[in-house]
Amino acid sequence: MNTERSEKLYVKAQSLFPGGVNSPVRAFGAVSGDPIFIAKGKGARLWDVDGNEYIDFCCSWGPLIHGHVHPEVMRKVEEVMHLGTSFGAPTELENQLASLIIDNNRMVDTLRFVSSGTEATMSAIRLSRGYTGRNKILKFEGCYHGHSDGLLVKAGSGLATLGTASSAGVPAGYARETIVIPLADEGALQEAFKQHGQDLACVITEPLPANNGLLRQDPAYLRLLRELCTKAGTVLIFDEVITGFRLGFEGAAGYYDIIPDLVTYGKVIGGGFPVGAYGGKQEIMEQIAPSGPVYQAGTLSGNPVAMAGGLAQLSLCLQSGFYDHLAARTREFCERITESARQSGFPFSVVSEGSIFFLSLNEMEPPKAAHEIDPAAIKLFSEWHRLLLEEGVYVGPSGYEVCFLSSAHTDEDLDQAAQGIQRSLERLFS
Ligand SMILES: *Cc1c(COP(=O)(O)O)cnc(C)c1O
Repeated sequence: MNTERSEKLYVKAQSLFPGGVNSPVRAFGAVSGDPIFIAKGKGARLWDVDGNEYIDFCCSWGPLIHGHVHPEVMRKVEEVMHLGTSFGAPTELENQLASLIIDNNRMVDTLRFVSSGTEATMSAIRLSRGYTGRNKILKFEGCYHGHSDGLLVKAGSGLATLGTASSAGVPAGYARETIVIPLADEGALQEAFKQHGQDLACVITEPLPANNGLLRQDPAYLRLLRELCTKAGTVLIFDEVITGFRLGFEGAAGYYDIIPDLVTYGKVIGGGFPVGAYGGKQEIMEQIAPSGPVYQAGTLSGNPVAMAGGLAQLSLCLQSGFYDHLAARTREFCERITESARQSGFPFSVVSEGSIFFLSLNEMEPPKAAHEIDPAAIKLFSEWHRLLLEEGVYVGPSGYEVCFLSSAHTDEDLDQAAQGIQRSLERLFS
C-alpha cells in the first residue's frame, strides 16, 4: 500500500495542530502506522489521497447512516446552501427537522438544536441541575459523553465515591460533583442512590454503551435505573449521540422501551454536518432560556445547511422497514465473517446490535462492562488495523471502537469486505 502523500500531509499537519490532528483518535495512537488522509467518499467507499480504496465501516464515527454523498442528502443540502449558509435567525428548516423528530419519537416533547454531541450532553446536564436545584451527577465507567469538564472524570477509590479528573485542566472541585460507578453493577447503583440520591441532579448514561466496545446492558438493569431516578427525583438522561436514529428512530430508548426524562442526540441527526440536540419532557425543557432561567445559546445552532442534511437523512430513515432491514443485513454480515474466521480456527468474535457491531480478536461472551474486554485482544488489534487497511477495509483506529453499517453498503461491498477481513486475519495469524 502506497501512503506517501498521507505521510507528507501528516508531517505538515504536525506543525499545524497538536499531535497533527483536530481530534485525538485520528492520530492512530492506538494502532500501527500513520493516519490516512481521506480525499473523498461515495456510498460505502472511501479513497485516500494516495488513491487507495476502502470499504468504510467507520462512517465518520456513525453519522453517515446512508453512506457518503447520498444523492438525496446532497440535493437537499445544495438547494438550501445556495440560499445562504447562516442567518443567526430562525428558519423554517429548524421547524421541519424538529417536527419530523417530535412526530416520530415519543422521547421528545420539545428540543433544542446545538452543534455537537458534547454541547448536547453539557447542556442537558446544566438543565438537569437548573431544574432540580441539585449539583451532583452520576455517570458510568466506560461510557463517553463528550469532553465537557464534568464528564472527563474517572471513578475515585471505592464504590460510589466522588470522582477525580481524567484530564489535565479539570478542577478537582468540578470532578467531585461527578460520581462514577461501574456499568452493569446493581449493587453499586443501589449504593450510589442510597448515598447520594437526594443530591443527584441527573444520571447520564449510554443506554447501549458503544464507546468502549459494544456493552449491551440488561434491560432489567436499565429499568431499575429508571425506577431509582423516578423515586429520587433525579433526571434520567439517555445519551443517544451514537444510538439515536441509529438503533431506530427512537434510538435505544425506543429499542428497550424505557422513557428517559431527557435525551441527547448528535452524529446521525445532522446527516454528516455538525448538529446535536437535547430534548425530552416539556416540563424540564421549558426551563431553558428564553422561556426559563437556564442559559444556553449558539451562533450557528440550527444552521440551515446542517438542518437540510439532517432533514434529508432522517426522512430516509423513516421509510418503512428501514431499521429492520439494516439490522438484518448487519447480523448476516457479522455471522458470515465470524463463521469464516472460526472455520480457520482464528480467535474472533463480533457483538452486534442493530447496525452497530464490534470486532474482537478473541472468543468472548458479549461484554457488559469495558473491563471485560481482554487487553490482549486490544493489543493485537493495533497490528490488525494496518492489515485491514491494506486489504481495503476501513474501521476506527482503536480496538475499542465500534463499526457501523450504512444503507449504502451493497452486497458487493460486503462480499469484498468479508474477503478482506478474512485475508487480514490469515495474515495476522500466519
Ligand atoms: C460521540 C459521542 C459524544 C460526543 O459527541 P461530539 O459530537 O463528538 O461532541 C457524546 N456522547 C456519545 C454517546 C457519543 O458517542
